[in-house]
Amino acid sequence: MNHYQLIVIGAGPGGYVAALRAAKLGLHTAVVEDREAGGTCLNRGCVPTKSLLHSSQVLRDAREGAAIGVLAENIRADLPAMFARQKEISAKLSAGVEGLFKSAKVDFLQGRGCVTAPGCVQVSGKNGETVSYTADHIIIATGSVPARPPIPGLDLPGVMTSDELLQGAEEPYRSIVIIGGGVIGVEFATFYGDLGCQVTIVEGLDRLLPNLDRELGQNLAQLLKKQGVTIHTGAMVQRVEQNGEELSVCFTAKGEEHSVTGQAVLCAIGRQPYWEGVFAPDLQPETVGRAIKVDENFCTSIPGVYAIGDVSSRIQLAHVASAQGVACVEKICGKVPAVDLRVVPSCVYCRPEIASVGLTEAEAKDAGISVKVGKCVMGANARTMIDDPGRCFMKVVGRVDTRQIVGAQLMCQHSTDMIDQLSQAVANGMTVEQLLRAMRPHPTFAEALGDALEDLAAKLDK
Ligand code: FAD
Repeated sequence: MNHYQLIVIGAGPGGYVAALRAAKLGLHTAVVEDREAGGTCLNRGCVPTKSLLHSSQVLRDAREGAAIGVLAENIRADLPAMFARQKEISAKLSAGVEGLFKSAKVDFLQGRGCVTAPGCVQVSGKNGETVSYTADHIIIATGSVPARPPIPGLDLPGVMTSDELLQGAEEPYRSIVIIGGGVIGVEFATFYGDLGCQVTIVEGLDRLLPNLDRELGQNLAQLLKKQGVTIHTGAMVQRVEQNGEELSVCFTAKGEEHSVTGQAVLCAIGRQPYWEGVFAPDLQPETVGRAIKVDENFCTSIPGVYAIGDVSSRIQLAHVASAQGVACVEKICGKVPAVDLRVVPSCVYCRPEIASVGLTEAEAKDAGISVKVGKCVMGANARTMIDDPGRCFMKVVGRVDTRQIVGAQLMCQHSTDMIDQLSQAVANGMTVEQLLRAMRPHPTFAEALGDALEDLAAKLDK
């Protein structure tokens, strides 16, 4: 029988988590995927980049003090091993997802999915065979792909997106120009910086990580510059040109033309929703820009068809895709989702790490909310002194009227894990006193959070 209660198209963190939740809630479920289970996140995104960053840090730490020549030799030897390890980890995790499908009795249909009519999905396998299925509900979770704006020269050989860079290289680049100082750009800058590559970042807005609190981007720029990274902000790229064996990235900044050169160029200016061929030509969903338009229940304009994750979401993050997948399935089953989808932690795996949740001071002001900010600069924090990662700080934003925590911005070791307790605080409307109630172990980075909260409490008392 080719009927399912739910068919999910796309097995990224949105689709596979939605399918597993659906199976748990008793829905007869299938997932359609034409590449590897785990999607961008496990195979071309979150996991490979963190694996490479781990390897490059180990390499950098091990070589501290080694002669430059030795360093270059070892990197040449280690680079293929780093990419091999990254691919092995992705493959294991992807196989793990397939294993989860099997034990949950979710059918994994390999091929390209296309919604041909409401309730109908056609799956075209690699062998050219096409099978039709019907479903009560269809979730589109087809994710996103790197954006390539129409800038002349972006199609030159040597200009890559994260997809191509993650395929690996035999030799480290001598130099790389990264177009885009967002999360992907600064993570690759950290990786190539560790390898001793000459890194240049060209960012169109006035700072790195322009979507996050201003101080985070400014502090990161200072630390990266100390590590030898060149940064141009307010720099609009006009074209990329071949320049002998190198590539020149030409940009305007403050009305003047400039150019920087590198052996390779990474185009990291964002990602665009991907749903090519997912709907029959006469069955197109409504859109917002390139994204599939959904309502608060993830319903598209086509009856019985929902969309989650990067293909429809304003925020393109793996945990957002997963949370939306779970919420969508729970709503389909008549349940009230537990997760507050408005509270979104976001992390950057540079050094030191950056993590942020809720409102910044500037955003609170724009929203007309009166807030105070408690802050701890972590120069006197014992663990930070031991690790010596450069200037670290934590900021916690609290409402003046209710003393509730509404946001936090951390830039320090392990902040990507520590942000969780602040996300819990924001989602549950906890006050500064509630977060100060439990003692924090010593010596930890989290002690600085206690100091930032004490500072906030004192400012709220005034
Ligand atoms: P995807 O993961 O893109 O999965 C979509 C799947 O659908 C794909 O497997 C695709 O093959 C499949 N598909 C598409 N069309 C069809 C079709 N017609 N039929 C069948 N299958 C189809 N996010 C974080 O939260 N943390 C990070 O640290 C992080 N790092 C990142 C680093 C990089 C370099 C990149 C590129 C992204 C990173 N992201 C990170 C973002 C994260 O990867 C995405 O937000 C997440 O993968 C989106 O999940 P998704 O399920 O919506 O889509």
